[in-house]
Amino acid sequence: MFKKHNNLNTNNKKIKLSLKTGDKVQVLSGKDRGKQGKIIAVSPKEQKVIVEGVNIVSKHVKPRRAGEEGGIVKAESALYACKVQLVCPNCNKTTRVAHKFLEDGTKKRCCKKCDQVI
Ligand SMILES: [Zn+2]
Repeated sequence: MFKKHNNLNTNNKKIKLSLKTGDKVQVLSGKDRGKQGKIIAVSPKEQKVIVEGVNIVSKHVKPRRAGEEGGIVKAESALYACKVQLVCPNCNKTTRVAHKFLEDGTKKRCCKKCDQVI
């Protein structure tokens, strides 16, 4: 019998990403620095995002079946969320995200520069 571990979750802190699919972001570092694109996928667990047209890598695909062609497929690969910054749709500037609570208690993201809800 295995001993039950009660402390398995200690490393499982929930870190919320303030970025969402569909957000426009600008890349802060790396070969795509300065590029802007739309987030097409978010992985809060890995703290990573996939941005349209950014961090494109070529993957070599081997033919799996006879008659199938192998080749190079280009696809976006994930990059760390800390390497991108949100572009505010209101003032069009890169900004950090602030949170505010509306009167009905819902939490909304807002732009630190123009104070508009994003
Ligand atoms: Zn703004």
